[in-house]
Amino acid sequence: MKRKNLHSLLAGMLLLPTLFMACKRSPGGELQPVADKTKSGLQNFVPSAYALNVVYFVPSDGDTIVNYRARLNGILQQGQRFYGKWMNYYGYGDRSFGLPLDSTGKVKITVVKGALPKTGYPYEGGGNTAIGELNTWFAAHPAGKHSEHTLVIMPASTYASDGNPGGVPFYGLGRWCFALDYAEMDTSYLGQNTTLGNRATKWIGGLMHELGHGLNLPHNKEKVSEAADPAKGTALMGSGNYTYGKSPTFLTAASAAILNNSQVFRTSTATGIYGGGNTTINIIKASYTGGNIELKVKFSSTQTVNNVNVYNDPEGGNDYDAVPWVAAPSGDSFQLSMPISEFHKKTGNYALRIRFLYTNGSSTEISYPYTFVNNEPVLDISTKDELNKSSWSITFVSSQEDDGPATNLLDNDQATVWHTQWKTVQPAHPHTVIVNMNAIKSIQGLAFLQRANLNGSLKDISVFTSTDNVTYTSRGNYTLTNVNSKQYISFGATISAKYIKIVTASNYSGSHYAVLSELGAW
Ligand code: ZN
Repeated sequence: MKRKNLHSLLAGMLLLPTLFMACKRSPGGELQPVADKTKSGLQNFVPSAYALNVVYFVPSDGDTIVNYRARLNGILQQGQRFYGKWMNYYGYGDRSFGLPLDSTGKVKITVVKGALPKTGYPYEGGGNTAIGELNTWFAAHPAGKHSEHTLVIMPASTYASDGNPGGVPFYGLGRWCFALDYAEMDTSYLGQNTTLGNRATKWIGGLMHELGHGLNLPHNKEKVSEAADPAKGTALMGSGNYTYGKSPTFLTAASAAILNNSQVFRTSTATGIYGGGNTTINIIKASYTGGNIELKVKFSSTQTVNNVNVYNDPEGGNDYDAVPWVAAPSGDSFQLSMPISEFHKKTGNYALRIRFLYTNGSSTEISYPYTFVNNEPVLDISTKDELNKSSWSITFVSSQEDDGPATNLLDNDQATVWHTQWKTVQPAHPHTVIVNMNAIKSIQGLAFLQRANLNGSLKDISVFTSTDNVTYTSRGNYTLTNVNSKQYISFGATISAKYIKIVTASNYSGSHYAVLSELGAW
């Protein structure tokens, strides 16, 4: 009972205009809250230059559900205020996703009739079928397309014995997202501890979560302190679809940083939106001191990076449990301090996923593995000083494709790879490549960079070195990691070598070829 009252109270607070601390960005560091209560920011957004496409998609044997325009108008305008509240909180101003409005100020919902009956749009695969038809519809009705982002609402096609609706697609697919409609899906039930109230949280909260995906958001989880903060609570893009309207639910700073570049949050039109981009991490220094993971990164990018999201993602649980931080870069570098007291789990393997956010709305993510041992993170990911490769050459390669020469291993460009033959012949492992360092060098190990998309990453290898390309010494067998960041092997001692020979045994797709972007030595 006490819990129910607390939830009702908090749900009520969620919907009220509330003054929050605004945030300003500090160059090179994380967002720092500052006291700036000049705006409540809940009612009057700066108009967006682009609007979300809102489509009510009706199978050929179905119909819209009673009162849908008024109910969905209420849901979407409340959702717009929810998103806008958190954009304002993190210092991005009075902005939210744009909604298309009709002459009465209500959300314009476009009804599109599907070509197939209900059974043609099942949960599995039904989304792509609808997208195909809607792309055809948009091509024939260009004035009906306001942006690249589309929310597709479909009438529920099945109902469980307790009345719970379902049966239609309910997920995000790129910039498309799907949600369902049923007769009692209405904001008036949100926050009630009743069957219809709980159902409203599940499906309206679910709509807001899927909409997040359709606005470019990945999953993430609240920090420990945020979970305990009655003003924040549960991240919408974690399990906030089960708390929205019922108990405190919020957008993380990382989500807001992505939405800041989303097309439908823009207050002026722009060209080149979602034009892609590439980023290379040139130096990364990661350490664990004083209870914090300290991270310093230097990068180069083909696009303007306005924020960097760093996700600490435990193995398993997909990305729902990834705890994020945001850094505003200063020039070509950023640093972050991440207290592990904010982590929910201090055991097992983690991925440190560094996502560079471009002002054009695209992003690039580079992932590093680390692990917790005795409740402390072991971060063996810092950059080592590699030898300059400008005078290096390839002495021998057993197989290379015409567009994947082994010289690509030496060009410091992750976009170009050594790829063994696959077009006309498909030779199997082992494949061999020998690199000539041009002089006898003292080295302690090697550096590897897998191809960026990790398609068929190199797995098991043997390493040999030589000073004369005649007598080779084995330096051991290694299993490379399936990550798109720089990784190192250590010989455990400093050795002298002029030639490095790599013999492959397998790749991560279990197929015949070897592919690798860069090979270096340190
Ligand atoms: Zn999701």
